[in-house]
Amino acid sequence: MSIVINQKKCVGCRKCMQVCPGTLIKANENGKAYIKYPKDCWGCVSCVKECQFDAIDFYLGADIGGMGSKMNVTSKGDMIYWNITKSCGEKQTIEIDRTKSNQY
Ligand code: SF4
Ligand code: SF4
Repeated sequence: MSIVINQKKCVGCRKCMQVCPGTLIKANENGKAYIKYPKDCWGCVSCVKECQFDAIDFYLGADIGGMGSKMNVTSKGDMIYWNITKSCGEKQTIEIDRTKSNQY
């Protein structure tokens, strides 16, 4: 499990650095985020959820998305979108309504 940070999208807000429980994400000389030891990431996805600039992708395991598939998270109002890009290029979006997500 690991993440990849898109340097073109990153604006250097540092939120991902603040939430990573392993302090794995650092700022480079341009103030942009990077992960030095991706293998140390345990896949909590805190950084993915925190980034408001669509700059962090999480690699999905073979059991849920296939090797090479990636996921990021965007939001608008009460809606959260889990955006999956499969290794073949196929895209899938899972929509979650915050106002209904904890209803039973
Ligand atoms: S939260 Fe996103 S935009 Fe902010 S520093 Fe991290 S990767 Fe860059
Ligand atoms: S997924 Fe979790 S452990 Fe991995 S880099 Fe992001 S915040 Fe850190």
